Amino acid sequence: MSKDSTRSSLELLFNVSRELARSPDLPAVLPRVLTLSVKNVDAERGTLIVLGMDEKPVDAAIVVEGQLISHTSSQLQATLDQGLAGWVLRQQKPALLMDTSKDERWLRRADDDLLRTGPKSAICIPVKSGEQLVGILTIVHSTPNFFNSDHLALLQAIADQAGIAISNALLYNSLQSATRRYRELFEENINPLIVTTWSGEILEANRAAASASGYALSDLTGRSIEMLEPSSPKKIKEETDALRVGANISYVSELHGKDGKNYPAEIFLVSARIGGQECLQWTLRDITERRELDHLREDLSAMIYHDLRSPLSNIISSLDMLKMLIPFDKNPNILPVFQISERSTERMQRLIESLLDINYLEAGQPITNKRETNIREMVYDAVEVIAPTAESKKQKVGIQLPDSLPAPVMDSDMIRRVLINLLENAVKYTPVEGELSTGVSHDGAWITIWVQDSGLGIPPEDQQRIFEKFTRLQSARFPKGLGLGLAFCSLAVRAHGGRIWVESKEGAGSRFFFRLPIKST
Ligand code: ADP
Repeated sequence: MSKDSTRSSLELLFNVSRELARSPDLPAVLPRVLTLSVKNVDAERGTLIVLGMDEKPVDAAIVVEGQLISHTSSQLQATLDQGLAGWVLRQQKPALLMDTSKDERWLRRADDDLLRTGPKSAICIPVKSGEQLVGILTIVHSTPNFFNSDHLALLQAIADQAGIAISNALLYNSLQSATRRYRELFEENINPLIVTTWSGEILEANRAAASASGYALSDLTGRSIEMLEPSSPKKIKEETDALRVGANISYVSELHGKDGKNYPAEIFLVSARIGGQECLQWTLRDITERRELDHLREDLSAMIYHDLRSPLSNIISSLDMLKMLIPFDKNPNILPVFQISERSTERMQRLIESLLDINYLEAGQPITNKRETNIREMVYDAVEVIAPTAESKKQKVGIQLPDSLPAPVMDSDMIRRVLINLLENAVKYTPVEGELSTGVSHDGAWITIWVQDSGLGIPPEDQQRIFEKFTRLQSARFPKGLGLGLAFCSLAVRAHGGRIWVESKEGAGSRFFFRLPIKST
């Protein structure tokens, strides 16, 4: 190459790179690359097909005598399937066609009749960004033998620069659509969403946030989130470390509307980088309806339990009276029948007391009725309560107690019901002729009570959740229940400062433990 042609090539490439840098947008980049290429090799027409990651065409531009002309996606696909561009795509190398009429790689379409348009010459080159093929550039001249290797080298140099510009444009496009999608999700979200700085200044709010708070969007921007959520500064301070490492924080608080009314909300807080800025994103979900439903359910259940309690105590006192009046020694058949009604009413009473306790303990009320308890007596008494049901299932019940036991301070009636509950479950979930046992151990400041059965066992993944309300494991073999017994046990034990857990192997029985402090907490 002469000095002059080297200089003009460098000038050309400099112009090309300046042109390409003008706009990062794909629809602007494509015609520019193509027009530059066509012009610089004195050709008349050219095609640039942009390929996606899967090497399928995502866009294209066609220039004929300086004019952009339209194309269809089937035209592009045909060129890639059968034409020269397809050959370059598969071989990943350039092609120089001196005479298109003599080369099989040239696809003759209906509009490219040899008699009408004549033989042509063409150059087709892969456009790459690094190793990634991002497009195929085809330049055509209307006379054969027009192009030479200098043209090929020049177009390859243009294509190398175009590859980077196209791949930047593709990235820019996907960034643009991701931003658009984010904006849509933000705007259209049915939950109030607010973006603030780390100091709580509102940068953006969506429509739902405006309508929930009663403020206009323009009134919200620039103000502090504290205006809506007074505990927010404290929350940001407390959770800074967790938020910095990307944790999702959720808590329940009250939101203050413009009309002076407050409404309960569940708040989700997460840090986010938006537009290059470190921000906090707040989702303020209104839970008024959920709260109302919770209250309704609590009121309803409390009402039912209370209403059941008084007739039940009447039955119990009548049974007590009957016990004194009926001469059982003269009518021995009556005694077992009488005992059944006595046991059933006691069971019902325990159930109602436990249901009332669930409400009470869930509300965070403290245990007030604590006293020193004789654990030995409690264990014997609890076993006596379940003995008739265990006997009817031919189950053996063992008791293992150390010689001496401390007298822990607790609500004896409540803990007695916990133990009976575990024993009742052991009977219920153990087959006929199974074996059960219960026992106590103590170490230092703690006493541990356990109940062992030889039943079906509990899979490891369920061993935590059985202590939640209304959890019942799915098994046709299991008898029916409410799923409230263990929830009560867990609440009662935790309210005493203790812990409850289960160790179990499927098919090999379960052992439930609960551990309580000996001295009152
Ligand atoms: P319920 O017995 O009324 O269903 P619980 O809260 O007492 O409710 O128990 C929750 C669930 O835990 C039961 O439905 C049962 O699936 C499982 N479970 C409880 N105790 C045992 C046990 N000893 N052996 C096997 N599964 C048990």
